[in-house]
Amino acid sequence: RAEVLRLGHRPERDERLTTHVCLTARALGAEAVHVDGKGTGPVGTAREVTRRFGGGFEADTVGSPRSVVRDFDGNVAHLTMYGEPVQDVIDDVREEPVLAVVGAGKVDGWVYEEADYNVGVTNQPHSEVAALAVFLHEYFGGEELEARFAGGEVEVVPSASGKETRSIRDSR
Ligand code: SAM
Repeated sequence: RAEVLRLGHRPERDERLTTHVCLTARALGAEAVHVDGKGTGPVGTAREVTRRFGGGFEADTVGSPRSVVRDFDGNVAHLTMYGEPVQDVIDDVREEPVLAVVGAGKVDGWVYEEADYNVGVTNQPHSEVAALAVFLHEYFGGEELEARFAGGEVEVVPSASGKETRSIRDSR
């Protein structure tokens, strides 16, 4: 079981990336995303996508990310290029539910200290969206790729060419 905490959302510059964090969390098997700050736009988009495409994903904004970290019952994995290689720690992280924490701008020192694991997806600088995707894929061992999202309005019909969707009612 996985949840995601998006730290330090800045509405004036992070709307698109935070939205992608939320949608990536949902698509790759997390149950919830918590957006630190005034992230009502990305949270609204995540809820709308869930309504349309199904699944039980939950999205909210939080005023105290530190409380989310402290109250989480499981392993807190802060994704950072300075962390231990994901491939070295993922078996231990997987022993418990995980809260995957990703930053936007500079990440405060308390996050490094209070996380159970600081995890690098490579030790090169890149993107919170890419880091989250690889981390969740490693955490779920690929099983998230088989997930079905029940209860939505539409689903994609996988296709080698073209773009096909069907309403869920038609597919039953
Ligand atoms: N400049 C910020 C700092 O020094 O803390 C990092 C900004 S980075 C664009 C945004 C987020 O992407 C980071 O907080 C981290 O969660 C994630 N990230 C970037 N590269 C990563 C890596 N190699 N491994 C894991 N997470 C990474």
